[in-house]
This record gives sequence, structure tokens and C-alpha cells, in this order.
Amino acid sequence: MVCQIDLHTHSTASDGTLPPSELVRRAAAASVDVLALTDHDSVAGVSEAATAADAAGVALVPGVEVSVTWQASTVHIVGLGVDVGHPRLQQGLAGLQRFRAWRAEEMGRRLSRVGVSGSYERARELAGGGLISRTHFARFLVETGRCRDMRAVFRNYLVPGKPGHVSGEWAELPDAVAWIRDAGGQAVIAHPARYKMSRSKLRKLVGAFKEAGGEAIEVVSGSHDRSDYPSMARLTRDFDLLASAGSDYHGPDNPWIALGRLPFLPPDCTPIWHDWPLVETTAG
Ligand code: AMP
Ligand code: MN
Ligand code: MN
Ligand code: MN
Repeated sequence: MVCQIDLHTHSTASDGTLPPSELVRRAAAASVDVLALTDHDSVAGVSEAATAADAAGVALVPGVEVSVTWQASTVHIVGLGVDVGHPRLQQGLAGLQRFRAWRAEEMGRRLSRVGVSGSYERARELAGGGLISRTHFARFLVETGRCRDMRAVFRNYLVPGKPGHVSGEWAELPDAVAWIRDAGGQAVIAHPARYKMSRSKLRKLVGAFKEAGGEAIEVVSGSHDRSDYPSMARLTRDFDLLASAGSDYHGPDNPWIALGRLPFLPPDCTPIWHDWPLVETTAG
């Protein structure tokens, strides 16, 4: 049997558009056998997802995608197989959630200075009680017709040098990896090819991550082009790391890879699930 594995997805607990249970049902319908829920800086969706996964016959991997600042770049570290109740993980995520809450208000204030009013209130409403991300501001700016699409919002409003951008520090790389490991999980660099880093800076990041106890990098990702796979597989070999695969799915309206459609990992890397008890056959 070929096993469909997707180790990076989002729900309404962060900036996905589907509630955790609906995400799991759709994953099951798309023949996904092993699914990780990896919301940004939050594990709030995991228990609902786990209940739905039991009912749907999907193996749910409890996960998170931690925001990190490393050498002035934002980097995302996915944690897989974490104990979501672990105090150190919870404390770490609580700090990031406080920063996010402040940042969202500050984004609202900055956008109002350039004549965009009501963005914080609407972003909060769109977040529906989950944490607020730039994605929610982006949806508001598209909804009001100020921007044509999400890409345009990020380019014109939400990146450094643009009116809605708020800089700040996320977690330290060694801390993020430690929270994940303490909670019994495996740390994975999310979508490494997406960071606009030179080859040498990326290799430095991977070295620092490995040094901190990180175990894998995403080779196959909805945020990667297929042409990135060979160089990412090479990185796993050069640094003796495992390879992960995840769609980075945010919901049906978003441009990431659809559920159940992930390409297989290249054959020359070792899947992070190679020794997971719940995965008997490993083909993607
Ligand atoms: P935040 O973690 O609040 O800074 O928001 C980052 C999120 O914004 C990412 O996880 C993506 O979901 C989304 N995002 C970033 N860049 C883009 C883009 N160019 N187009 C659409 N969504 C984006
Ligand atoms: Mn996101
Ligand atoms: Mn990410
Ligand atoms: Mn993600």
C-alpha cells in the first residue's frame, strides 16, 4: 500500500481557513493517511483534529510551526510529534502569541496612518478567536478591493519598508528547537528554499539548526518549486539530516498544493518517518 503523508498544514487555529476537524475530514477524503497539523505558534487546534482523525481513520501527528528570527531573517521551524501540553512548549508559544497580539494592534495603527481604517478589527474577526497573522490583514485588504490578490498585499503593504510592516523578534533558533525536543518532538526546517538567503547563509542556518538538535528539513513543500527538491535533498545528505514533506495547506482558496497531492520525496534522502511506528509503508 502506498501511504500518503502530509506533515505541514494549517487550520483556523492560525491562518488556515478550515476548522481542524474539517481539515482532517478533507484530508481523509483526499486519501491522506498521516497528517500533521502545524499551525503557526499554536497547538490550539490539535485536540479537535485528533478527535476527528480517530473518527476518519487518519493518523494525526500533533505539530506546530514556530516563528523564529535567525540572523535578522524570519525562519519557520516545524515541530512534529509534540506533546501539546508540555509546559516549556506552551510557555514558549505563549510568548509568541503575546508578540502576535501586540503586533496585530500595531499593524492596525500603522495601516490607519496611511488611510486604511478598521484593519485590526476585521483581521481579528477573520481570525475568529485564533491567533492573528499577516494573512488575516491580507484577506481584509483584498476584500476591501485595495489589493488585487494576496501576493500584491504582501508586496505592497506587509513586508519591510511597507506601511503595514512591524518588525520584531520571534523565538531564538536554539530555543524553538529545545521547546520541540523537550515536548518529545522532532524539529524540521520549514520550506528552506523559500527564504531569500544566499547558499552560504542557508548552509549556515542548517548547520546552526543541526547543532541545536534539529533533525530534518522539508524537501518536498507546497512552498517549494519542484526544481528545489534536488538541492534540498542534497542539503539533507550533506548535513546528515532527515527529509520531510508537507503541503503547507491553508485551505481550498489558497494557492498551496492541494491535500493528497504531494509529490514523493526524492529517493536519495531518508524520510523523517522512516522509524515512526505508525507508518508501515513509506512512499510519499
Ligand atoms: P505571519 O506569520 O503573521 O508573519 O504571516 C506569515 C504568513 O503569511 C505565512 O505563513 C503565509 O501563510 C502568508 N504569506 C506570506 N507571504 C505570502 C504571500 N506572498 N502571499 C500569500 N500569503 C503569504
Ligand atoms: Mn501561514
Ligand atoms: Mn511557514
Ligand atoms: Mn506553514
